[in-house]
Amino acid sequence: AGAQHPDKVADPIIVHPDVRRMLLTQKTLVEGSRMLAAYCARQLDLEHGHPEPSYRKAASKRAALLIPIVKAFFTDMGQEVASLGVQVYGGHGYIREWGMEQLMRDSRITQLYEGTNGIQALDYIRRKLLGDGGTELSALQAEFSEVCDRQIDRPALHDMASKVQARIGEWRELSAEIIAATGRDPQEIGAVSVDFLQYSAYVLLAGLWLQAAARAQDALEQGTAEEAFYQAKLASADFYLRRVLPRASAHREAIQGGAECLMALPETDFAF
Ligand SMILES: Cc1cc2nc3c(=O)[nH]c(=O)nc-3n(C[C@H](O)[C@H](O)[C@H](O)COP(=O)(O)OP(=O)(O)OC[C@H]3O[C@@H](n4cnc5c(N)ncnc54)[C@H](O)[C@@H]3O)c2cc1C
Repeated sequence: AGAQHPDKVADPIIVHPDVRRMLLTQKTLVEGSRMLAAYCARQLDLEHGHPEPSYRKAASKRAALLIPIVKAFFTDMGQEVASLGVQVYGGHGYIREWGMEQLMRDSRITQLYEGTNGIQALDYIRRKLLGDGGTELSALQAEFSEVCDRQIDRPALHDMASKVQARIGEWRELSAEIIAATGRDPQEIGAVSVDFLQYSAYVLLAGLWLQAAARAQDALEQGTAEEAFYQAKLASADFYLRRVLPRASAHREAIQGGAECLMALPETDFAF
């Protein structure tokens, strides 16, 4: 689009859409993950501190469902976000002085220890989804569907809420398809587990970003001294739903690709 700062020797790289893509991807994955971390931590607090046993039990189930997602998705995204950090710096990101390569190396191990993310995904699908026939996951989906219902008639949030509601409907259908497919062929469990965990996490973060957008819209409508902060939340939610959430579609298609293609090659073809 030509020079944006013709008075300067060169434009800063923030004028480039691709640099903004990298920074906003980092920002929305990190802030979205923090929202999910806070949601999950609240369940753990309720599990340990609520006076009613029925609330403690419900919170315990919800936390158990979310923990493999929190562990695997956050650490996968931590690695991606650190790698984007290197990329934003260009060649300078790769050298030691800026500390980015250290963050990238340090975040890599988190995908392995305390159980590899592959094992977390198996826990999510085998124990948490199939373990109760999808009951707890349905309850979580219903909770976020209600969030959409509450926001869908607000003009400023209608498009966002519709988009999230459609994904929750798709998530429900996909969960039912997986329960049916794993009943027919046990190999499906290991074949779809990582993609289903990632799919679930992207949709969950979408629900949380919608909630954040709703809080921001409330604050802006009521009047706030922190207008820029809340406008940034709305813009971030919009970016997440338009530019990050579509990744869920790729995971859905991969899941629907089935197990057969993974098991087609004989073991000898992997020998080295
Ligand atoms: C720096 C570091 C610190 C550590 N600290 C601790 C510690 O303090 N305490 C502790 O207990 N452990 C610790 N560990 C061990 C760590 O938890 C294991 O390395 C990790 O759980 C992976 O196990 P593994 O290395 O045996 O890999 P493997 O189990 O051999 O896994 C290799 C690959 O195969 C996959 N895989 C394995 N089995 C299955 C299966 N059944 N289905 C599908 N996929 C499968 C895995 O996902 C992985 O991708 C540490 C490891 C490191 C590197």
